[in-house]
Amino acid sequence: MKAAPARPDVVPFIAAWSGEQQLDRTVVYSGQGGIAYADETPEDRDQYGVLWNGRAVARGAGRPQYGDVHPMRQRQAMQYLLCQVCGDPADRDDRGVLWLIEDNRRDWQGWPNDLLTTHPPICLPCAGKAVAMCPHLVDSNVAVRVLGSEVCAVYGRMWSSSAFGHPVRTANADVVAYGTTAARWVLAGQLVRSLHGCTFVDLQREVARR
Ligand SMILES: [Zn+2]
Repeated sequence: MKAAPARPDVVPFIAAWSGEQQLDRTVVYSGQGGIAYADETPEDRDQYGVLWNGRAVARGAGRPQYGDVHPMRQRQAMQYLLCQVCGDPADRDDRGVLWLIEDNRRDWQGWPNDLLTTHPPICLPCAGKAVAMCPHLVDSNVAVRVLGSEVCAVYGRMWSSSAFGHPVRTANADVVAYGTTAARWVLAGQLVRSLHGCTFVDLQREVARR
């Protein structure tokens, strides 16, 4: 029996689909230093001038690729604080925007203040479903209200100059802050926010408050 096609509304908003091909673009040196597309258009860069990894947009086409984040939808969700699961606005109250993040409380005193994350926030209905469907998610993650967060960097593949007359893709993927020299050499795949004014909250209680 053939599996039923996956429905876009049950696949995370930021997940890529197999019908959304990676675009094979020729990367060249930019006149400003760093990299550019040979056939670049203004939409290929964000407002800070960083070049983005192109990918076809056809949400729901083919099979969902759960481990694979779609650059444009992740960027939209992070820029506009949309829920990473459904794409609606993430939940916000007077303590801030709701985030569900991997619990690394032992990383530093005051964590997750100053944390850099590529994971967009979440809305209450999706948080509720997560609690109901994946109890492990609640054990390994922590719910946080974030009063302030800042778009500050991108995560992507680094490119470098070479002896071949064209830039080459390196093996490194990295978080690169806007305004740095490295930002000219990264092909961005995800937008990064830094989190501030964080308060731990009880996810079950947040969901019950609705
Ligand atoms: Zn949602």
